[in-house]
Amino acid sequence: MKNKYAIGVDIGGTNIKLGIISSLGKIIKKTMVDTMGEKGPDVVVSQLKKGISELIQKNNLNGRGKITGIGIGCAGTVNQEKGIVENPPNLAGWDRVPLGSIIRKEFGFNVFIDNDANAAALGEMHFGAGKKFKSFIMVTLGTGVGGGIISNRKIYRGDFGAAGEIGHSVIDFNGPKCNCGSFGCIEAYVGNHYLVKRIQGEMKSKTDTKIWDLINYDIEKLNPRVIDEAAQMGDEYAKSIIVQTGEYLGCALASIANILDISTFILGGGVAGFGEPLIKAAQRKAAERALIPLRKRIKVLPAKLKNDAGIQGSSALVFYRMDK
Ligand SMILES: [Zn+2]
Repeated sequence: MKNKYAIGVDIGGTNIKLGIISSLGKIIKKTMVDTMGEKGPDVVVSQLKKGISELIQKNNLNGRGKITGIGIGCAGTVNQEKGIVENPPNLAGWDRVPLGSIIRKEFGFNVFIDNDANAAALGEMHFGAGKKFKSFIMVTLGTGVGGGIISNRKIYRGDFGAAGEIGHSVIDFNGPKCNCGSFGCIEAYVGNHYLVKRIQGEMKSKTDTKIWDLINYDIEKLNPRVIDEAAQMGDEYAKSIIVQTGEYLGCALASIANILDISTFILGGGVAGFGEPLIKAAQRKAAERALIPLRKRIKVLPAKLKNDAGIQGSSALVFYRMDK
């Protein structure tokens, strides 16, 4: 598969990122356009077309050459066979948009669309930390907690394509209410907003943490990056938040490992920026809580693809289909 290229597209709530990626995962060119998600699907689709056109024209790809297809990763439920995106949570007014056929008609390339967590999993499998594992679970720690299950080098999708929603594994029957309607989901502990909200509540009684200085005594300014910064400065409370986040996560990972007998987990996304202390705590807690035969095998690793993981992962959708 040498010298093949794909266009990888990552549709986010704020930006659409696009890039030309080689089959070895190298980014050749990249660009970005506003999603304009609040203006509804028609505007988002025309922004998407604009971004792809720009990439093609700027790079003299009108002759097509070695571009083998367009891969698109998007949040929400994606019918990847039909190329239909349903109700992405971060885009207003979407019901069912046949993005695949729209883009195929416009540009004449093969188009492959998938849920962004599945795209991230494929990205790690092809180009990142998952290269040498037969099976692993990708965990994306952002506003939501997403998951992609790779079993025997294939995505496990479940009966209706909705598998991998590990963010909604429950770790406490009476836990905090989750956006999905349930209680005590792991997302309600380690998802960006939930984490920030919980710590904002706790901060009222924590007068001696360095976090206060970093946010200028404005609680609204609290975010995971500030917590990480304080932890790096040696702040005990900030460090404890990161360890606790890892432990919550590890508890969910143990249940998932027990069910699937998959013992490798790759953590990516914003909150994974807590780095080594988070990974270690998750590893320790998962190994402690998993069934005995699994304990020694549990591995929690950081994702290798960083800032451009979205477009690299989406390009992997194209290479993955070509491998089949
Ligand atoms: Zn939930």
